[in-house]
Amino acid sequence: MTKFDSFGFEDSLLDGLTSMGFEKATPIQEKAIPLILENNDLIACAQTGTGKTAAFLLPVIDKICKKQSADISVNTVIIAPTRELALQIDQQVEALAYFTGVVSAPIYGGTDAGEFDKQKNALKNGADIIIGTPGKLLAHLRFGYAKLDQMEHLILDEADRMLDMGFYEDILNIIEYFPKERQTLLFSATMPDKIRKLAKKTLQNPKEVNIAISKPAAGVMQAAYNVYDDQKIALVSSLLKGKDNYKSIIIFASTKLSCKNLSRQLKKEKFSVDEIHSDLDQSEREVVLRDFKNRKLQILVATDILSRGIDIDSISLVINYDVPNDAEDYVHRVGRTARAENTGLALTFINPRDQQKFGKIEALIEREIPKLNLPEGFKQGPKYDPNRRPSSGSKYRGKKKNFSNNKKGGKRYNKPKKKD
Ligand code: AMP
Repeated sequence: MTKFDSFGFEDSLLDGLTSMGFEKATPIQEKAIPLILENNDLIACAQTGTGKTAAFLLPVIDKICKKQSADISVNTVIIAPTRELALQIDQQVEALAYFTGVVSAPIYGGTDAGEFDKQKNALKNGADIIIGTPGKLLAHLRFGYAKLDQMEHLILDEADRMLDMGFYEDILNIIEYFPKERQTLLFSATMPDKIRKLAKKTLQNPKEVNIAISKPAAGVMQAAYNVYDDQKIALVSSLLKGKDNYKSIIIFASTKLSCKNLSRQLKKEKFSVDEIHSDLDQSEREVVLRDFKNRKLQILVATDILSRGIDIDSISLVINYDVPNDAEDYVHRVGRTARAENTGLALTFINPRDQQKFGKIEALIEREIPKLNLPEGFKQGPKYDPNRRPSSGSKYRGKKKNFSNNKKGGKRYNKPKKKD
C-alpha cells in the first residue's frame, strides 16, 4: 500500500494524517487521490468503511492549501444524505486539515435561528468546504447570498442513498447554482441505472474507480439464527448476557416501533442501552451518538438511519434484529463492524417471512451464512428455506410490525500547531 508522502501533499496535511494515525493509503485512496489531483471528474464506487471520505477530502484540502489564498471563500461543496454524515465529514475535515488553516462548515436542517445565521455566513465567506444535506442547502441557495464564484469542487457522497431518499430533483436544482467549470466527484456504494443517469447530467468525461465489492470486510464473522418473531427479544437478551467484554454493540431494527419496544425491554433488564430513530430530534440523537461513541453506552438500538455512513469505530457486535429490506443495506449494516481492520461479529435474526430476503443477501455476497442453533432452553426455530415465499408457512404472517463560523470575517487564520 502507498504511503501518503508519495502524493506530494503539503507538509501541514501530512501532519494531520500523522496525528490521526493514518500511515498508508487504503485501496480507494490509492486509486482516487491521483485522479482527483489531476483534476478529473470521478465516479467512485466504494462503500463505507473503505476510507472513501479521506479519499475525496485529502486531495481537495491539499489543492486548497496549494492555492495559498489569504481569503476564505467557498471552494468545495459536499452534498451528503443525512445530518449525521454531514457532521461526520465536517469532523474529518477538521481533523485532517487541523494544521492547514482550511475551514469547513456543515449545513443541515433542524437547527435554531442562530445556527441558520452561522450557516448563512459560512456560505458567504466563512468556509472553504461546505458539507450540506440537500434540502437545507437548497433552502440557503434560494436566498441568493451564497458566494460560489470561487467554487471548484462538487462532491456527491453516498449518491445512491440520496436518490433512495428522493433527493434526485433537489440535487439537480442545487447544481444549477454552481459554476459550470468545476470538478465533480460522485461517490456511491452501488451503481444502479439512476446513478449513471445522474452522473451523465453532472459529470464531464469522468474516470471511474471501483472498490465496491458487495461483500462485507474480511474481518467480519457472520452468522444467523432462524427464529419466530416471538423468540426475538428473548434471543437478544440471551445473546447480550455475558457480553460485558463487547465494548460497543449495535442492534438494527427495521421499524421505529420494534426499535422502541426492544430498547424498552433491554432497559428493563438493566442493559446499558439507548435508542436512535427519526422520532428523536437532532440534539437528542447527538447526545445518544456521543454517549455511544464515548462508550458510556454499550448498546445502541437503531433504525436504518445509522446503517450507512456513520463512522463509529470498533463495533464488536452487530445484531440485525430484522433482515434488512435491501440486500445492500445488509452489507452496510455489517460494515459497522471490522472497520479499518478490526474484527467483528454480525448476527442476523431470520423469521420465516424474511427467509427469501436473506437468500437474496447470500446471493449478493456470494456466500452462505452459517445458521446457528438457538441457545439451550429455546424451542426449535423454523427451518431455513431461502426459496420460501414471504407469505407462506408463517403463522406470524399478520400485519408487518412493524461551522464553524469563521470568526475572522473571511480571512484565513492558521490554527496553532497542536502540542502532543
Ligand atoms: P470511511 O470509509 O470514509 O467511512 O472510513 C472508514 C474508517 O477508516 C474511518 O474511521 C476512517 O477514519 C478510517 N480511515 C480512513 N482512511 C484510513 C487510512 N488510510 N488508514 C487508517 N484508517 C483510515
